Amino acid sequence: MQKFYSDYNQVKVRQVKCLLDDAGIPCFVKNEYIQGASGEIPPHETLPEVWLVDDSWLPKANELLKQMEQDLSEHSEEVWQCENCQEANEGQFLICWQCESSRPQ
Ligand SMILES: [Zn+2]
Repeated sequence: MQKFYSDYNQVKVRQVKCLLDDAGIPCFVKNEYIQGASGEIPPHETLPEVWLVDDSWLPKANELLKQMEQDLSEHSEEVWQCENCQEANEGQFLICWQCESSRPQ
């Protein structure tokens, strides 16, 4: 197993998880629900993390992540509306922060 990605922003972590899921890359999220559970643990130890089940997917996963970040930087100024819950989302997100629906094309 291989730790692939972590971020303070849980939505970004969910987004990376969705990206890998869509590509059929086996992965799982760690620490997703730990944040806020205890003030005792240093924050850097409680970041949500995306892990690859199989290390051999790492080059492909890195490629997808790079592509996603490129796409996001091109659209970071746009605000989009979720088709499912009508929530307004910042352009840096590919999934709705509220209901996790995919961004409409
Ligand atoms: Zn939504």
